[in-house]
Amino acid sequence: MSLARVHERLSRQLNGPVRRDEPMARHTTYRIGGPAALLVVCDTIADLSHVLGVLGDEDLSWTVLGKGSNVLVSDQGYDGAVIILGKDFKRHRTEGEQVRSGAGVTLAALVQDAYSRGLSGLEFAVGIPGTVGGALAMNAGSRDQWIGERVESVTLYVPGQGLAVVRGPEIEWGYRSSGLPARGVIVECSLALEEGDRERIRRTMDARFLSRKAKLPMGMPNAGSVFINPEGDSAGRLIEACGLKGLRVGGAQVSEVHANFIVNRGGATATDVLDLIDRVRGVVSERYDITLQTELRFLGTQA
Ligand SMILES: Cc1cc2nc3c(=O)[nH]c(=O)nc-3n(C[C@H](O)[C@H](O)[C@H](O)COP(=O)(O)OP(=O)(O)OC[C@H]3O[C@@H](n4cnc5c(N)ncnc54)[C@H](O)[C@@H]3O)c2cc1C
Repeated sequence: MSLARVHERLSRQLNGPVRRDEPMARHTTYRIGGPAALLVVCDTIADLSHVLGVLGDEDLSWTVLGKGSNVLVSDQGYDGAVIILGKDFKRHRTEGEQVRSGAGVTLAALVQDAYSRGLSGLEFAVGIPGTVGGALAMNAGSRDQWIGERVESVTLYVPGQGLAVVRGPEIEWGYRSSGLPARGVIVECSLALEEGDRERIRRTMDARFLSRKAKLPMGMPNAGSVFINPEGDSAGRLIEACGLKGLRVGGAQVSEVHANFIVNRGGATATDVLDLIDRVRGVVSERYDITLQTELRFLGTQA
């Protein structure tokens, strides 16, 4: 595989940017991460199909990134291609109570649009950063509501197969997982909402937003909850009970506001975050005999 050749082939045929050695710190809410060998923006399904074909021919690994709000990228970066969905994937349309959305639309835009049309069902998602594709891949939500519940269908692009539609009930929605094929790129979905009272929708959204604002660290880069809540308990409660709020490794710190968040206080590296994760896990395991599992997705190989 020659990166120069892949870069040359893709740059020739795509309208969107194709960059080499792109610092991933620019593309993650953590503001952490070394360079991706390639970063490719696909504006259309034809672009995506072409890119995946070339990457397959050249045996180069790839991943899709939304807003990078749930990802920690290695300090050494990623030696494959990061695909970002551009123009055509940033559109959505509403017909009655059904919303069809491209995977590149931000969840925030969908939540606001649903509210403005008096459609209820997405209030729980207010304040969750990221794209619709990321939300579907992660089954984003709160403790008691998640996006999977609203999904009528998801359209994926699967290399070597093309477009495939999976119906919502056939998808194994789990806690922060979707069970969708890992080698598929989510390109679109259809969500079922219901008519609601605009004033009530607004009140629910306001209440959720204010509660998040009070509970979550605002203003310091982070990537949301680090650990999955263990059955019947909360990772934040366990970490706080171990007295770990405020614990620091380098520029990374267990948030003083919410113990299940690790914030970048400035200059944090992925190594800092990973070391802190290990330390938190070790203390919680020793005290409670519970091994915390990470919700955060990791990209790249750490030296
Ligand atoms: C301050 C803050 C608060 C948060 N609060 C919540 C919360 O309340 N609830 C919650 O669930 N999450 C929360 N998160 C985590 C995060 O916002 C969600 O998981 C979000 O849905 C991720 O979307 P994204 O576009 O940023 O995905 P990314 O972080 O870019 O990607 C996440 C994963 O999805 C995959 N992916 C992304 N797009 C696609 C696609 N088109 N096709 C296939 N795979 C894809 C990526 O490969 C990666 O594995 C929070 C994060 C932050 C920073």
